[in-house]
Amino acid sequence: AKAAGRGCFRIFDAGIDTCLQQRVRFEAELRCAIGRDELVPHFQPVVDLATRQLLGFEMLARWPHPTRGMVPPTEFIALAEDLGLIAELTENLLRRACREAAAWPQELPVAVNVSALLLQSPALGETVRAVLEETRLPPHRLEIELTESMLIENFDLARELADSLAALGVRLALDDFGTGYSSLARLHALPFAKLKIDASFVRAMTRDADSYKIVAAVIGLGRSLLLQTVAEGVEEPAQVEALVGLGCDSGQGWLFGRPVPAEAVPALILQAMPS
Ligand code: C2E
Ligand code: CA
Ligand code: CA
Ligand code: CA
Repeated sequence: AKAAGRGCFRIFDAGIDTCLQQRVRFEAELRCAIGRDELVPHFQPVVDLATRQLLGFEMLARWPHPTRGMVPPTEFIALAEDLGLIAELTENLLRRACREAAAWPQELPVAVNVSALLLQSPALGETVRAVLEETRLPPHRLEIELTESMLIENFDLARELADSLAALGVRLALDDFGTGYSSLARLHALPFAKLKIDASFVRAMTRDADSYKIVAAVIGLGRSLLLQTVAEGVEEPAQVEALVGLGCDSGQGWLFGRPVPAEAVPALILQAMPS
């Protein structure tokens, strides 16, 4: 093993590369990458569906890996949780997302995802407060996304976190809505400003009548509770048309823009600004 920076070792033993060794190495690499701030925030635009006006961005984590290419969060978030690194990862990325957003040429909001495991950590509210103070991002420009499954698995802790974030002036969005079965009472008991409709329903809505009905019901629910509705995973103009017809406010998806690195964001904002 060869030293590669603060507490990090690269392991070279080609030839006997078993599955277990690969996993051990991947874990060690992730540990190093987090410690050395090598995870990179990317930003995906959120737009007004009817006018295509740019409304803000969601931060999505990426890990540029020396041999595996750009590793998506689906491959490292759960691992970071297992390794006890999720609090550090979240704080790092939150800080960088807020710092970037504070420097954007227009005061648009940035959304950050929070892992379910962090509900167990009472310090998250305090971390968010400290990061906002440090980066000078006004609280109303930060949006924290909690998933519907977090409400179902641990409602009391989710409520505590949601209340402490709302008290800071941070906005809350309910992510992946429709994939769980949270009760209306629970939904209403938390200070959400937004419902994000899961991409699986959006993808199917123009082909499958049941999915269309689910999307229609979710949008109706959001409107009656005075919540913003956001459709995720919008890829086709036909989806936009159907969503606008149902009164959905905003959308996110490849049709409007893929997640891009921080350096590319100011140009996107300037390009979208009325001249
Ligand atoms: P999510 O929060 O539901 O994010 C939306 C995912 O859909 C992102 O995947 C995004 O790149 C992808 N996506 C956006 N538009 C389209 C589209 O039109 N078509 C398709 N096929 N996909 C689209 P990504 O970036 O791989 O992230 C996956 C999940 O990982 C996220 O799902 C979120 O739950 C989690 N995640 C991402 N960043 C973080 C983070 O910093 N912290 C935590 N805890 N979780 C994160
Ligand atoms: Ca999200
Ligand atoms: Ca989502
Ligand atoms: Ca999702």
